Amino acid sequence: MASEEVLHSFTMPAAEAVRNTTLGALAGAGTDLQDTWTWVYTEWAGEDALFLWTVFFLITSSFFWIFNLGFNFLELTGQPAYLLKYRIQLKQKPAVVDRAVFFKCVRTVLHNQLAIGIPFHYCLLPLLLWRGGLYDRALPSLPYALFDLAMCSLAIEVGFYYTHRLLHLPYFYRKYHKIHHEWRSPISISSIYCHPFEYWLSNLLPLVAGPILMGSHFTTAMFWVMLSTASGSIAHCGYHLPLLPSNETHDYHHSQFNQIYGPLGILDTLHGTNRRFKASVHFLRHFTLTGSTPAYVLVPDKSSKDEQTVTE
Ligand SMILES: [Zn+2]
Ligand SMILES: [Zn+2]
Repeated sequence: MASEEVLHSFTMPAAEAVRNTTLGALAGAGTDLQDTWTWVYTEWAGEDALFLWTVFFLITSSFFWIFNLGFNFLELTGQPAYLLKYRIQLKQKPAVVDRAVFFKCVRTVLHNQLAIGIPFHYCLLPLLLWRGGLYDRALPSLPYALFDLAMCSLAIEVGFYYTHRLLHLPYFYRKYHKIHHEWRSPISISSIYCHPFEYWLSNLLPLVAGPILMGSHFTTAMFWVMLSTASGSIAHCGYHLPLLPSNETHDYHHSQFNQIYGPLGILDTLHGTNRRFKASVHFLRHFTLTGSTPAYVLVPDKSSKDEQTVTE
């Protein structure tokens, strides 16, 4: 037998076994998810659209606080100390955030979630019901859900970029957006520390634009909101941590004010609002860390006296 055939006889059955196991697991998981959704929909929720929508709000709002628990502990205690070296603004960001400032942030975030989030959430329901798809008994297929998520990402890129640029016009900045920029070195929950008008215009509207546009299913919409919540929290946490997506971009926006307005970078490239970022050392550090070495050690900034001092 030729060596290629020998290799083929070993690799093909192995590859097929992996493929069949993976597809089998996905099909099994899909069936389980469908069974769970059918049960929730018919037995538990009793097909009550308003009740399910309340569950949606409670789960997605609670997710914000649950996801940020670890970051909050780190901000309030400076522990575990070995994570402090991952701060993006090494000298500017304090190891421990002032408690009064932290709890002011908590109050503003809760106000936005409750006073703005709840009415917005319930006003949205008739619109989503009109679009259809929200409470379909059949779950969307994986490709269908992924396509919706891709469209939601594009919608938030457009919606957030342009509303954010509007908020940087002098009138809107002074009146609304400067509150969000009180955090020059942001913390994770400061992602929705902002004026209620900004929360409505620049956070909630672009977030729901995708699910409305696509007539997304309840489960896709919930996954999308939780994904965006996690992404916004990581973008603001101020720590470039191993294995997490790089957050050098939005942290740069908070430190420099007039660079990087969008979440994906597509419109920033189109409008040239990332030129200074691209010329900075932070652009070179804009990648996911796969080891334990901090980004500022991997890509040192020779011109920064602050970082030299920390490295020594
Ligand atoms: Zn921000
Ligand atoms: Zn801004």
